[in-house]
Amino acid sequence: MSKKELNRELKCPKCSSKNIGVTEISEAERIWQIEDNSIDEDDAMTDIGFVLRVDGRCWDCKHIWKLRNITQITDLFKDDVVVGVSEQ
Ligand SMILES: [Zn+2]
Repeated sequence: MSKKELNRELKCPKCSSKNIGVTEISEAERIWQIEDNSIDEDDAMTDIGFVLRVDGRCWDCKHIWKLRNITQITDLFKDDVVVGVSEQ
């Protein structure tokens, strides 16, 4: 486990709850090997692919919102140097 402190304090924009999570949404790819002109349906390789955006989600009111100024989860880490992100 590697616990990372965030560079901002996140809360639900709708109900102000801090009982929230984040979802990294990516363009996942599943890849199958063809052998003898067939594929094993259950044996796909998964490539996480390009990260599209990060959403916040509130466990209390179920609200989902897009996090501004970040493109992937590592942009939220305090220790990482992030260019062009304003703290809020
Ligand atoms: Zn909420």
